Amino acid sequence: MKMNTEELLKFDKQHTWHPYASMTDAPTVYPIVSASGVRLKMPDGKELIDGMSSWWAAIHGYNHPVLNQALTDQLEDMAHVMFGGLTHPSAVELVRLLVKITPEPLTKVFISDSGSVAVEVAIKMAIQYWYSKGQPQKHKLATIRTGYHGDTFGAMTVCDPVNGMHQMFSGVLPQHHFADTPQIGFDEAWDEADIESLKKIIEQHHQELAAVIIEPVVQGAGGMRFYSPTYVKRARELCDQYDVLLILDEIATGFGRSGELFACEHSNICPDIMCVGKAITGGYMSLAATLCSEKVSDGICQGEAGAFMHGPTFMGNPLACAVAVASIKLLLSTPWKTRVQNIEQQLKTSLLACAEMPTVEDVRVLGSIGVVEMKEPVNMERIQKMLVAKGVWLRPFGKLVYTMPPYIMEADDLNTLTAAMVETIAAL
Ligand SMILES: *Cc1c(COP(=O)(O)O)cnc(C)c1O
Repeated sequence: MKMNTEELLKFDKQHTWHPYASMTDAPTVYPIVSASGVRLKMPDGKELIDGMSSWWAAIHGYNHPVLNQALTDQLEDMAHVMFGGLTHPSAVELVRLLVKITPEPLTKVFISDSGSVAVEVAIKMAIQYWYSKGQPQKHKLATIRTGYHGDTFGAMTVCDPVNGMHQMFSGVLPQHHFADTPQIGFDEAWDEADIESLKKIIEQHHQELAAVIIEPVVQGAGGMRFYSPTYVKRARELCDQYDVLLILDEIATGFGRSGELFACEHSNICPDIMCVGKAITGGYMSLAATLCSEKVSDGICQGEAGAFMHGPTFMGNPLACAVAVASIKLLLSTPWKTRVQNIEQQLKTSLLACAEMPTVEDVRVLGSIGVVEMKEPVNMERIQKMLVAKGVWLRPFGKLVYTMPPYIMEADDLNTLTAAMVETIAAL
């Protein structure tokens, strides 16, 4: 049945659940029929400049010929084959690339199908590591407030306990340890007091701690905050000192977004376990990976179970692996760092106009991420409507109006985007 746009939206409203949405009072959603470059096209031909990269993912923009080709090439060989007992060139090439571009000790790769699953896998790895080492009491996690690690049960336990949208599950979830949110910004002078709260938790509870899990330098959906690379460095030192594993969740920050290929490079440290996802396929397909060091994989596999007990049905899907390989190679062959720096400079200059507004609490930019934090929560539907009228796509939440555009966005389009942000915020 072919529906016209009106019918489609009506049916969607009645039957289709959208992310973080009500089904009884469904939010406005906008129909998109195609996307190319940095533009999303609506059925009436109107185009929106995409400031979201489809949630950090579409770093090369949409409908990219190189990524399209990788998919059609893979399709001719096979769309999928199970990964249990079988392997294939696209998965192996992806693993080779991931091992090559991530910090050196990370040499073992577990491929999965989404970021949340990659986090579940990381948590299971850490707990199984200590179990195998004869220390089953080390099964708790420590993290910092205002973090976000995904929506599945294990991931939810380390999301911010207040704004994590998961309070009603608190009775059924295991309780972990939450340190205060770091206060020292990315560029600010380090003060040891900033990590006091995490330090105390590690000192007091290391005997039951399997791992510390944090988003390095950039906290994404939990608050869009940037903090000191020294914090991450100190967290690494504390983990070493007290025999606790360090898990870095680079699902949002990975593949260049913060100005380094991986955000842990700002701190010059390596985690024991690292999660990547989102931009890994350039926004084409759902794929993620959990990497770990040989120390961790040996620890797990030399234990009682002898194996790591996880295996999604679509693990290592060839189409997703092929487009991830193409996306990573494309990224490395383009001047991504200069592009991200140019976007950073332009965001800094153009969003500055918001800093003086009485409704604005803070303006911050790092890499190709621009954030305007308001004093009061914004009405997402209202502000989205205003932005769409100006030809721009953003998805503000809470007090945050923010953008992380595709790296290929040209100065003119970025100008249109930030001007729309500034005008809209001024009109609130
Ligand atoms: C998005 C995100 C996740 C969850 O990834 P999904 O693919 O949505 O399951 C986990 N951690 C961080 C830091 C993220 O930004």
